[in-house]
Amino acid sequence: MEAPVAKNEYYDVIFEDLTHDGAGVAKIDGFPIFVPNGLPGEKAKVKVVKVKKGYGFGRLIELYEQSEDRIDAPCSIYKQCGGCQLQHIRYEGQLKAKYKHVKEVLARIGKIEHAIVHPVLGMKDPWRYRNKAQVPVGEREGGLVAGFYKERSHDIIDMDTCLIQKEMNDIVVQTVKEICEQYNIPAYNEQTHKGVLRHIMARYGATTKEVMVVLITRTEELPHKKKIIEAIIDRVPNVKSIVQNINPKRTNVIMGEETRVLWGSEYIYDYIGDVRFAISARSFYQVNPEQTKVLYDQAIAYANLTGEETVIDAYCGIGTISLFLAKKAKKVYGVEVVPEAIADAKRNAQLNGITNVEFAVGEAEVVIPKWYEQGVKVDCIVVDPPRKGCEESLLQTIIAMKPNRVVYVSCNPATLARDLRMLEDGGYKTMEVQPVDMFPHTMHVECVAKLELSCVHSK
Ligand code: SAH
Repeated sequence: MEAPVAKNEYYDVIFEDLTHDGAGVAKIDGFPIFVPNGLPGEKAKVKVVKVKKGYGFGRLIELYEQSEDRIDAPCSIYKQCGGCQLQHIRYEGQLKAKYKHVKEVLARIGKIEHAIVHPVLGMKDPWRYRNKAQVPVGEREGGLVAGFYKERSHDIIDMDTCLIQKEMNDIVVQTVKEICEQYNIPAYNEQTHKGVLRHIMARYGATTKEVMVVLITRTEELPHKKKIIEAIIDRVPNVKSIVQNINPKRTNVIMGEETRVLWGSEYIYDYIGDVRFAISARSFYQVNPEQTKVLYDQAIAYANLTGEETVIDAYCGIGTISLFLAKKAKKVYGVEVVPEAIADAKRNAQLNGITNVEFAVGEAEVVIPKWYEQGVKVDCIVVDPPRKGCEESLLQTIIAMKPNRVVYVSCNPATLARDLRMLEDGGYKTMEVQPVDMFPHTMHVECVAKLELSCVHSK
């Protein structure tokens, strides 16, 4: 079918839908056009800027009628930054859009229509929630810039404040930038692969107020290292750990393999509920501490433990979910691929006097089949994989191990839906899905799903 629209032409449209990344969807003679910044119900003039097979892209030229959900984005750099996608939508509207997205993706990709999808659990105050900042550093005449990449480029724009960061992280990044500028530390240059300082990372323990500073450098050498450390200790409040991470590669991956403690501790502490966690520079730790509690409570509730069960926590990071599970189960096995995270996990078990948990370093899809071969029998498996979801072989192992219950924690509804389908085909039924808003103002949404072994297939 020939597209009923042409590039560079103008059209009057009404937006019918919103994509998960905050673009409005309008149909022109049935042909979908994606327009950033358009909201459902709005009437607008758009210019078509690209036509593909089956869909096109447009630019918003004029709004004739505004949605009730539209607000002025509070952040002054919202349009250039790209870190948030939904600030122009009232928070309740964001939650509704995320709910709709989860429901649609589960149905379309996973053919999961029978499960109860609960309304998204949002935050009372959805600002200043991030406990970690990772900021690229560049150079301009007369100094350093630290901020964000301009949309679709690698030009770095300076940033004083980020409204979804804890205030402390803003202060830490600014202060460390000033200190490095004072000692003329050259910023890393992606084009020439020269220079030293690549990123400044700040991590903040929201309950303990402890601060970690990570300087990510291309080189092992950090000029004026002693002076820089002294200045950070002097000027950054509550700093407990100063760490250098060395990343000599030409890559977009932020951290390298080698981490050196420059001063203080290798980790900082934080609490989730009454459990205390040590977190080191390279370990994964949820970025929204307030909502993490909400997410974990839901995961633990779905696991429905009585104290008699053996449980696996796959992709366990520093053992956060494992330790909450361990308080309610007989035995917990945790597995995670980053060795530093497992070192943290073991330390965290000790720190909290928890002894019924065992941690292993490795890929979940390699380690769990080994446990299965060794005769480990489990009542419940919790998985919390990265965005790409679980390996098919892991899902097959879960199906073979036949735990009564699977709890799937996911930061990507599309791979969640794909994996739920595979588990359903293997005899599980998705009972409930609880989305949790871990990342307000961004397009991301976290979900916890509860699956039960269907009677037909049960052991
Ligand atoms: N459950 C933890 C971590 C979730 S993030 C928490 O809530 O904090 C996902 C974790 O999976 C990361 O720590 C990452 O290092 C780890 N990971 C990625 N691929 C993996 C794999 N194939 N096997 C085991 N762990 C993996």
